Amino acid sequence: MKKLLFPNLLLCLGSFFLFSSCKENEPDLPSCTDIHWNYDNSTGEGPDHWGELCVDYTECGGAVQSPINIAGANDDASLKALEEVFSNTGTHIVNNGHTIQFNADAGTTLTYEGATYNLLQFHTHTPSEHTVNGVSYPMEVHFVHKNDATGQLSVIGVLVSEGADNAFLEQFIHHLPTTADAKYDDAALVYSIEDFMPANKSYFTYNGSLTTPPCSEIVIWLVLETPVEASHEQIEEIHALEHSNNRPVQDLHGRTLKRYHM
Ligand SMILES: [Zn+2]
Repeated sequence: MKKLLFPNLLLCLGSFFLFSSCKENEPDLPSCTDIHWNYDNSTGEGPDHWGELCVDYTECGGAVQSPINIAGANDDASLKALEEVFSNTGTHIVNNGHTIQFNADAGTTLTYEGATYNLLQFHTHTPSEHTVNGVSYPMEVHFVHKNDATGQLSVIGVLVSEGADNAFLEQFIHHLPTTADAKYDDAALVYSIEDFMPANKSYFTYNGSLTTPPCSEIVIWLVLETPVEASHEQIEEIHALEHSNNRPVQDLHGRTLKRYHM
């Protein structure tokens, strides 16, 4: 074994200097416990570095990543309308230091391609993560649903453009936790996410990933084509808390992008 190791090491060092990569003898990455990440590449912990930060974040460097620029989608007649059954939930807001997240009580379910996904939470990105024909929106909201049988996620993305006051967001705008790890809970402040959704649920779909570490490639993305409006002040209120938390768009690497048109 020792005889083989040395030539391998030389080969590997050679390729390291040539290509700056050396899979075989790559130093072991640390555990992801207590690893910090952010959206600022100048800190060494930004999106360009996520895949190298620790052992469980390597998928961030994968080929099935999100978000993407949505362009050139083909209408697909085999796609079905989104079937979501909405249930009321109490208000459980968490500022996790990366986003403002609303945890949902059980009951809202999405049925898609024969599988059932339960709504877990929704959260905000300012500005949007997905772009459409290269155009960014000031905000995007992600509704994260999970198939408990397979672990797969389906995430509905709703783009938000600047315009009229958004009555749904207004219910919470003065309750948003202002510091990392702060929470706001009010079981009596009951709402349904149906009130946030646009009437037209035409969508784009593709296979992708979580847009934050560990960037797991387990997400069916369903990005609604029709944006909803929120006021400049409402969007700024959220942006002031989470700052810019949009991962840059990722390469499609040959993935197909389909469109369901209502
Ligand atoms: Zn998100």
